[in-house]
Amino acid sequence: MTAPTKNKKPPAKPAAKNPAGEATDLLTTYRNKRDFATTPEPAGAQPRERKIRFFCIQKHLASHLHYDFRLEHHGVLLSWAVPKGPSPNPSIKRLAMQVEDHPREYGTFEGVIPSGYGAGIVVLWDQGVWQPLVDDVDAALARGNLPFVVLAEKVKGGWNLIRTERAGPKAWLLIKHKDELASTNELTEDFPGSVTGHGDFAEVLAREPRDPWPGEPPTTGGETGELFRTIMVRAKKLRGKSSQPVVKPAKPPMGIS
Ligand code: MN
Repeated sequence: MTAPTKNKKPPAKPAAKNPAGEATDLLTTYRNKRDFATTPEPAGAQPRERKIRFFCIQKHLASHLHYDFRLEHHGVLLSWAVPKGPSPNPSIKRLAMQVEDHPREYGTFEGVIPSGYGAGIVVLWDQGVWQPLVDDVDAALARGNLPFVVLAEKVKGGWNLIRTERAGPKAWLLIKHKDELASTNELTEDFPGSVTGHGDFAEVLAREPRDPWPGEPPTTGGETGELFRTIMVRAKKLRGKSSQPVVKPAKPPMGIS
């Protein structure tokens, strides 16, 4: 028989910081989902708070096409998967599903995830900095309403992330503020490629010396499967054009991380 416990603690929430003020286990979920022996994604170093907050969006073709919207906070990247990408039109609300925090080092990643979690192609679609328009980001997140400004190559101006009950506990809406940087443009269509200037999905895939999916793409069905196949054909042509192996570009511009 176990002795009754006087103060039964609720299940421990991951501590955000250790006594030294460093974030500790914010990346546990991220790391648990991946096998770093097989993925080129970074495992990430110990997160550290910084005054300048990194921002990026990674266009990711995996089980579905989506745009991973990332805001640096507590030294990691808070992350939302936005299926349709950000719209600069304040009357358009884009669904943003919160996913696990990513390491800050992830913010410059562009490449191919050959297998496993997120298998597919990642294009570094936008990169810059952001600032909250509130003093307490944690309280704003808990409240489910985070106003902020972004200064990046494509995404600019004031935005809000607002939690919505409509699509489950992880669902948020990404909405542009009505400011001078609002527009009716469709950023994803106007600027489809990598912020590094090195093309789009096919060019990133073509940097791999060999097709990582010689048989079938990691997602075969529907529109996503079709998209993968089109990209793989184009990548093959691009690879064929250069007799030399395609040299991976050096660090992307705006390397503030
Ligand atoms: Mn993703």
